[in-house]
Amino acid sequence: MFLRIVFFLVFQLAGGALGWWRGGPWGAALGAALAAWAWFVGDLLRSARVLRWLRTGDLAHAPAVRGVWGEAADRARRLLRKQAALVQGSEDRLQDILAALQATPNGVVLLDAQSRIEWCNQVAASHFGFDAGRDMLQSIGNLVRDPDFTAYLAAQDARHGVVLEGRQSTPSRPVRISVHLHPYGDGRTLLLSRDVTALEQAEAMRRDFVANVSHEIRTPLTVLTGFVETLQTLPLDADERGRYLGLMSQQAQRMQSVVQDLLTLSRLEGSPPPGMAEWTPVQSLLQRCAEEARALSALVHPQRPQALHFPEADDLCGDIAGAPAELQSALSNLISNAVRYTPAGGSITVEWQREEDGRAVFSVRDTGPGVAPEHIPRLTERFYRVDRSRSRETGGTGLGLAIVKHVLQRHGATLDIASTLGKGSVFSVTFPANRLR
Ligand code: ADP
Repeated sequence: MFLRIVFFLVFQLAGGALGWWRGGPWGAALGAALAAWAWFVGDLLRSARVLRWLRTGDLAHAPAVRGVWGEAADRARRLLRKQAALVQGSEDRLQDILAALQATPNGVVLLDAQSRIEWCNQVAASHFGFDAGRDMLQSIGNLVRDPDFTAYLAAQDARHGVVLEGRQSTPSRPVRISVHLHPYGDGRTLLLSRDVTALEQAEAMRRDFVANVSHEIRTPLTVLTGFVETLQTLPLDADERGRYLGLMSQQAQRMQSVVQDLLTLSRLEGSPPPGMAEWTPVQSLLQRCAEEARALSALVHPQRPQALHFPEADDLCGDIAGAPAELQSALSNLISNAVRYTPAGGSITVEWQREEDGRAVFSVRDTGPGVAPEHIPRLTERFYRVDRSRSRETGGTGLGLAIVKHVLQRHGATLDIASTLGKGSVFSVTFPANRLR
């Protein structure tokens, strides 16, 4: 400031001196006055430039002016630059936070005090069917019409959530969304949504499974207890006692089979998939299947045996990689089902065919009762039976095909079922080329 006053005085003196030289004392006064005016106008122009620039605040076009206005513009520029860096830093942080919210597997919706959508991530948009651009600042109550949600939003009870049907839900593929509201800030609300379809399905499966297991065990147990009471209370002769004990042993065996199959399933689920190190000849696998099938068929239909057709041993070459015991049990299971469900005198044909692409198909064809189309997709579910009494009569647990499916999945193989009601069924297993040599 001091320098500026000095400059001003020097400028005045120079004007005065010039005026003195031209016109004496009056000239000096006029010269000094003109110098002051010139100084004032120059100052005015510089300030106008600085003010014009400050109105836009465009850092790239800061005016290059001298003097105190130049310094003011310089300081303003530095301040603006600092401010811009701060704003950029905050913007970057905001973008990072929004990117993190986008990356969460859950839906996130930010609602203002009037329950209008301020922001939502893509997951929430797909859960509720929002359009992330169009539906901003729309009231969520107008967009999500589920009565349970409306009641939940009105109650604003953050202690509990609510489970709704997802927007993409269809009767064949239900989608269940769990929604939870969390109040924050100044009357704002954070809404979190989570797809709980798999969780609910797993829970339903667990419940069904426990109910099924209990039922499967309870039925023979009830029968056993009844027989025990009869034996305890009634004076039976040796023949009757023998008959009762035989029936009791049957029930005990049934329970044992169920428990054994359950243990097999849990072992399959808990162990890593079989590697490629162990190779078993297809010939020995099928030979063992044939022996078991003949023994079972003779047992089930002693009077009128079934016609069993197996490939000639010489036609079977090659090995298959995997767990031999698992493979044996899966293939035998399909054959034993055919034997158990095909009436006396029927025929069962087992085939092994190599495809041109290197895969192999093992198939069991029977002339049994067949399965109606609506049952076919469910046959591999645990405890699913088309005819409960027929399954029990033949010693079935309802877990056989579930075990087969598991074993095949572990070996990269697939199971196909083709059946015509009243005519028979074909159960085919396709093994991938990499497990065959
Ligand atoms: P189960 O122990 O009852 O035989 P599975 O899991 O092996 O249980 O089979 C499930 C159901 O599939 C059976 O109860 C039966 O209704 C049907 N099924 C299986 N194999 C055949 C077949 N070869 N012919 C007709 N129905 C079959």
